[in-house]
Amino acid sequence: MTELLYRDDAYLRTAEATVTSLTEEGGIVLDRSIFYPNGGGQPGDIGSLETAAGERIAIVGTRYTADRSAIALTPATGAALPAPGDIVVQHLDWETRYKHMRMHTAMHLLSVVLPYPVTGGQVGAEESRLDFDLPEGESVDRIKATEALMALVNGDHSVITEWITDDELAANPGLVKTMKVKPPVGSGRVRLVRIGTDVDLQPCGGTHVSTTAEIGEVHISKLENKGKINRRVRLRFGPMLTA
Ligand SMILES: [Zn+2]
Repeated sequence: MTELLYRDDAYLRTAEATVTSLTEEGGIVLDRSIFYPNGGGQPGDIGSLETAAGERIAIVGTRYTADRSAIALTPATGAALPAPGDIVVQHLDWETRYKHMRMHTAMHLLSVVLPYPVTGGQVGAEESRLDFDLPEGESVDRIKATEALMALVNGDHSVITEWITDDELAANPGLVKTMKVKPPVGSGRVRLVRIGTDVDLQPCGGTHVSTTAEIGEVHISKLENKGKINRRVRLRFGPMLTA
């Protein structure tokens, strides 16, 4: 089991760890990870590992091991691998990760502005997207939706994590109704991400900024039809470019 340091503190940029094993695919498994593994629509982190000898191993991706019991960091092709037992220092590519955190949090707000069932999504450092199952006859106004989104960003709402037990979840059907994704019950507890007092509340295992103001300026860059009722909404950083 890898201790998920990023889950308790998404702002950790560096931390020591011990190499516990190497996977068959050449992935590096650590006892504790600040690297987020690809999942939930958020890309796995990139960065580097610093060895005791002062050498850097470039990390080009991060993923769960096949049985999801641990996290494996993917080294660059041809990199000299550390050995189990080695102590290394993890260094995140913070510029990329921070953009993921801002974008990911913006995705939560987008699902508030457009309160339709979400059918898919992907966070990126430059552009992110959410796919909505839009009811027949409904349409999205790019400018109005961007304004509503920025009002939530500028509202400087706190983003916090709460844990509830599977039993508490079952005892609060009203809470389940606010959730857009079926929570992964079975492990005994469910991680919820709450924005503001009641802006948004949903189960999520990703990394987020601590207040919506940190997202900064974003805009809906493109609307696409992907099938009859599937509308793809793309989000980018910066102000909306007007023709
Ligand atoms: Zn999230």
